[in-house]
Amino acid sequence: MSDLSFEKIEQIKAGQLKLLKQQVEYISKNSPFYKKLFSENSIDPQELQIFEDLQKLPVTTKEDLQRNNSEFIAVPEADIIDYVTTSGTLGSPVNFALNNVDLDRLAENEYRSFAQVGIKKEDKVQITTTLDRRFMAGLAYFLGLRKLGAGIIRTGSGLPQLQWESIERFKPDYLVAVPSFLLKMIQYAEENDIDYQNSSIKAAICIGEPLRDQEFNLNALGKKITELWNIELFSTYASTEMSTAFTECPAHLGNHVASDLIYTEILNEDGQQVEPGEVGELVVTPLGTQTMPLLRFATGDMLTYCEDACSCGRNSMRLGPVLGRKQQKIKLKGTSLYPQHIIEVLNAYGKIENFLIEAYLDDLNNDKVIVIAPNSFDKLEELKDYFRSRLNVAPEIRVLPVAELIKMKFPKTSRKPQIFRDFR
Ligand SMILES: [Zn+2]
Repeated sequence: MSDLSFEKIEQIKAGQLKLLKQQVEYISKNSPFYKKLFSENSIDPQELQIFEDLQKLPVTTKEDLQRNNSEFIAVPEADIIDYVTTSGTLGSPVNFALNNVDLDRLAENEYRSFAQVGIKKEDKVQITTTLDRRFMAGLAYFLGLRKLGAGIIRTGSGLPQLQWESIERFKPDYLVAVPSFLLKMIQYAEENDIDYQNSSIKAAICIGEPLRDQEFNLNALGKKITELWNIELFSTYASTEMSTAFTECPAHLGNHVASDLIYTEILNEDGQQVEPGEVGELVVTPLGTQTMPLLRFATGDMLTYCEDACSCGRNSMRLGPVLGRKQQKIKLKGTSLYPQHIIEVLNAYGKIENFLIEAYLDDLNNDKVIVIAPNSFDKLEELKDYFRSRLNVAPEIRVLPVAELIKMKFPKTSRKPQIFRDFR
């Protein structure tokens, strides 16, 4: 593992291709699932000479991982150290596992992410996400910061009071946080006369929700946080299956891809790479993973990318914010949307704190979207007009008692709020 990001683009690609070939060779020898896939598709893994050769292989889906889970294990069980789960698409969580090499790789990835943000050994970082609950990312942050040598405060998720008490006690410089939790922390500080504007925190590394729009400007959520609290926000985007995080540098122009840790394709519906700036599905091949190596894993995440050099000096590809999941694409009266577009409008509107978005098929099999607001909200027509001004179309608006709405938004079985519910 050596960081290729500052090399010239040709060198990055050559280095990445070499690692990709090694990974395909490892997989062809060790992964029962892919051995079968290679033989069923009559593919000789030795034939992989250029990136395009990879396209002969079908993508691996979340359903593949769920249905054939144990066939993805490519190491002896005794070598597995960390057992985690990923959120499943067929209802139940999916097993995922890491050995020693995978944990070191994860540490290297997060070490680079944090260093790229500007965190140094002498800094302190408060991790406000869970380190347990079978969650890979929390542990990854800890391992990356340990490698960097920074101070770490593991407060875990929730508990704004504990967060502020820890900030006052240890004076951390950075937070790792979910953006909407930062709003909860601000609210708690305001209600309890905590002088948060003069706290030790100078920046937050944010996961789970996009902070920027496709032009890399702060979105409504990002603006709301920074207007209330003058800290710098960095996006980072990751998933268990990718076993890799993509993180912003101080230029805030997209999430940098660590080319030696993951190979990325952004594909249209025909499986062809889209042009920079066009929306496509992120398909990944993590490099150097051993326990559950994946080839061409289709993340379902729809996003754009750019390839021009970044002002920080890195020349590797950068990813835009996730706009939605592939199957979440909504066609509303001829306009194509992803849930994030609707969330953006509701956040920009700013008068509804808790909302849900539901998608249905109507009698004619057309998409129908319903936004559910708390029953204290009565400006339904105003909100519809606001939607029309931003998206040219308006969803149906309904209201529910706020307690019921919050119960639906935070189901006990989920680690994340469920803002979008798809009934199509
Ligand atoms: Zn950069």
